[in-house]
Amino acid sequence: MKFLFADGLDFVDPNYDFINDRNAAGRRPYWNDQYPHELLGYAPYDGILVSRGIVGDHLFKGHYTASQSMRFRREGARKFLRFDSPESREKMMMGDCGAFSYVNMERPPYTAADMVDFYSDGGFTHGCSIDHIIFDFHSDNPPATEMLPDVQRRYDITLENAEAFLRESARIDDFVPVGVVQGWSPESMSLAARELERMGYRYIAIGGLVPLKAKQIHEVLTAIRGRISNATSIHLLGFAKAEQIHEFVNYGIASFDSTSPLIRAFKDANKNYYVKRQDGSLDYYSAIRIPQAIENPRLMQAVKRGDFRQEDLIALEACALGSLRAYDQGKASADEAIDAVTEYSRPMLWDLKKTSEKNEAEIEKYRERTSRTIRDMPWKNCSCRVCQDASVEVAIFRASNRNKRRGFHNLAIYYQHLQSTLGNTL
Ligand SMILES: [Zn+2]
Repeated sequence: MKFLFADGLDFVDPNYDFINDRNAAGRRPYWNDQYPHELLGYAPYDGILVSRGIVGDHLFKGHYTASQSMRFRREGARKFLRFDSPESREKMMMGDCGAFSYVNMERPPYTAADMVDFYSDGGFTHGCSIDHIIFDFHSDNPPATEMLPDVQRRYDITLENAEAFLRESARIDDFVPVGVVQGWSPESMSLAARELERMGYRYIAIGGLVPLKAKQIHEVLTAIRGRISNATSIHLLGFAKAEQIHEFVNYGIASFDSTSPLIRAFKDANKNYYVKRQDGSLDYYSAIRIPQAIENPRLMQAVKRGDFRQEDLIALEACALGSLRAYDQGKASADEAIDAVTEYSRPMLWDLKKTSEKNEAEIEKYRERTSRTIRDMPWKNCSCRVCQDASVEVAIFRASNRNKRRGFHNLAIYYQHLQSTLGNTL
């Protein structure tokens, strides 16, 4: 089973100055920045998935700038992502059409020829057919007649497009067309999968999984595997439950893409820093939240209201950072660092709508979570390049250069975890 990292222009400044919180002098964004596979020195994934919605084009503004998007088309995905070292060149480069970007349109705005051009320009090894997202999901398999006409329409469009795409894709060499399944139930999705197989697809991708619970994903995969050949490969598109992938190995999943190890570094309430236990399973630490006093919206509002003085916040922030760094270098105790960090959390966590007791309880909870991270110093036991270079900074929840670095570390750990637990299926 291959793990593909979904590209979102996630890079960091390798020479970021943590002490002064600024980029390296003369840094040129993108050119001097590094992707996870550059900063870590190897790719912690088996390939990359690039969505057309992220790249953007004349129809939709993606995450890329217009000139980046043009260069991507001109140079190809591998070169643009600097994923062209001898070992990376062998890895998958999958594309999809970014169905989320046109989800509200009557029909997908791309023809089969448009998409094949995009995949051909990008030098993709695998590319998805042009699907139209169906949001409805019913485990009890209602017939199409019970669904809104729009659902059936999207289903039909997805299959018609797949047929045209398969024909058109024959003009690219060394390219695997991937047929996308959309449906409103396990039954309808399995019928779509069978139809794709009948057309000639040998690789299918299951879309619309994002909002589904694990139980529903099992229903879908059981239904699909029951209708298609074991030789047909399955990809899980946008699989947000990367940490639960083990539950799904028995369905013969060839690949899945996810960003969740990266995203959790700064979106999850607590599971921000991954570690691998002895038995290969994952464990998580909370990052230590030290936002920038003069940039954090919540703190700025508190200053505006007159709840805190800005200079006090700046002093608390400096004390939290200073104590934590001193502790990291063995020059301060864990308690000193924990106290300083907790003190700075007060203005962040204090909610005027809550009673003092409730607020104190919140702060105590925060203290406990943070204490575990500080006392265990998990970054000291990690051999990844991020932790080796950034040390305690990787554990601090503060702006993109730290948060994404932690995400890169998470990718490294997640990949090790996959290899040690699913080694034989990789
Ligand atoms: Zn690390």
